[in-house]
Parts: sequence; structure tokens; C-alpha cells
Amino acid sequence: MKNIPRIIGEYDSGNKGPLLFITAGVHGNEPSGVLALREIFTILKNEKPDIKGKVIGVSGNQKALQNKVRYIDEDLNRTWTKENIASKKKDSHEKKEMFEIIDVLKQYPENNFSKRYFLDCHTTSAASEPYISVQDVNDNDSWAHKFPTYIIRGFSDIVLGCIDHYESRIGITGFTYEGGQHESKISEKNHEGMIWLALEHACGLDFNLLKNYPEAAKMLEAKRSNRKTFEIKYRHGIKDEDDFKMEPDYSNFQPIKKGELLAHQNGKPIYSEWDAYIFMPLYQSQGNDGFFVVQEAAINP
Ligand SMILES: [Zn+2]
Repeated sequence: MKNIPRIIGEYDSGNKGPLLFITAGVHGNEPSGVLALREIFTILKNEKPDIKGKVIGVSGNQKALQNKVRYIDEDLNRTWTKENIASKKKDSHEKKEMFEIIDVLKQYPENNFSKRYFLDCHTTSAASEPYISVQDVNDNDSWAHKFPTYIIRGFSDIVLGCIDHYESRIGITGFTYEGGQHESKISEKNHEGMIWLALEHACGLDFNLLKNYPEAAKMLEAKRSNRKTFEIKYRHGIKDEDDFKMEPDYSNFQPIKKGELLAHQNGKPIYSEWDAYIFMPLYQSQGNDGFFVVQEAAINP
């Protein structure tokens, strides 16, 4: 992607209300959220529908997006630790971009809005249904349950230094959204759908005010009757020296049965001990998470 501005778009219709702060491309190999934001801001600017408050779309790792790589020096979704932010050190490319994004957010302080929401747009290496990954703090979980997609609780809680941790820490309500596989065409539509729905729930946008009812929102909304909330049951960790090979063609949230062959590690078969669902099966060469096993959560808010 070329010439990606920090502010992809900004829109309000002069009413007081909440802030909806949307980030996309925090990983440079995940452009679909950026494309979806461009599309939606074009429609908002042309049709000028009435909304409460303000929506802003912000690009994540600009240089990595431009170079079509995940990151330059380090993962921008691991740098947002308390320590890094307190130290103010810009000793990697990603820390520079992190402080630029923080400066943008500082222009929209809590006092100017009735509430502040965030949405952080991502995609996954494995094929996947779109899903919300929510850190179970503040009112994030009940906010997430306004949306029709699968929801996974507790995964965001164990990965440190993510932008959603920072946003939650400073009192903004929201979640990370995974729109589907990195290169899949449908991922961009899944992002459009989620951004429209966030505009509806946060800023009170009435879709009937638009020339064309957003199909992408309708497409996601159709998933509501089948929505599930998952929790992590097991993480299969691997060491750098391990030879790990996942069995082919697993996708996120695919059901698995007890005794099913899942992977081989150093030549030994790994069988499922659970009747549950697979999550984040490892199909790229790097990583220390072979796969996760998730189960349906008992309680919805
Ligand atoms: Zn990502």
C-alpha cells in the first residue's frame, strides 16, 4: 500500500456524543481493515448521515503496510507495555509509530466525549470465521456481546503489549477484531461490516439514512443466531528447537473430537484430549503456540 496517512478518515455531523477510535494495519501484512476504512469514510463524506459523536480511522504500522511486511523491527502489537510507554524511548521503528498513534489519541480526550470506544482491526494467517477477541476488563465483554460474530474471551488477556491493552488501560471500551484470513477477499467485507455495526452501536447511525443499506453489515448480522462465546481451555506451547507440524486444513473454531490426530511434534503424534474447538493452529514457520483448544463459555453477559 502506498501513501497511507496516519488519519485515514474522520467524520462527525456536529452532534455531541461518543468517540469511536478505529485502528487498522497495526500489522503491516493485514491491509484489509485499512481498505475497509477508506471505503466507509468515502461513503460517510459523500452522504453525510447524522451520527452522534465522532468516528476516526487511524493507520497502524505505516512503514510495514507500505513494505507489505508484518513489522520492521518488532511487533507493533507487543510494544504497548506500561514500561515502554513510561520510558518514552523511541529505539525501534515501531515505538516511533506507537508514540505517533498515542499523540493522535491525545487530541481526543475523555472529557470531550460521552464515552470512548475502540476497534482494532486485524486478520489471521489461518482461514477463519470473523471473530472478536476481547480482553475481559472494564465493560469490554458486554460491549463485545452487542455484536453478532464469534467472541473469544481471555486470549487478549494473555498476550501482553497489545494496543487493546493500552486502550483498555486508559479507560476506553472495545476489542480486537479478526476479519478472516490475511489475503482473503471476504476479510475486507467482514471489516466493513464490523465498522458499520460499530457506528450503529456506538454512534447511533441509522443504516436507512444511507443510499444503499450496507450489505457487509447485513452479512455479519446474519451470523448472530449462531454466535458463540469461547474461552481458552488449553495452549499447546512449542520450543524453537521443536519440529512441529499441524495436520493440514484446520481452520479457527473447527470442532475437534477426543482421539483426533491434530499434529506431529518431533515425529510423535499429538491427539486431541478434548471434544472442543481448535483455535489458532500454527501454519507459519515461526511461533511458540502450536495451537489452542477453546470451549464454549457457560455464561453470556
Ligand atoms: Zn494482526
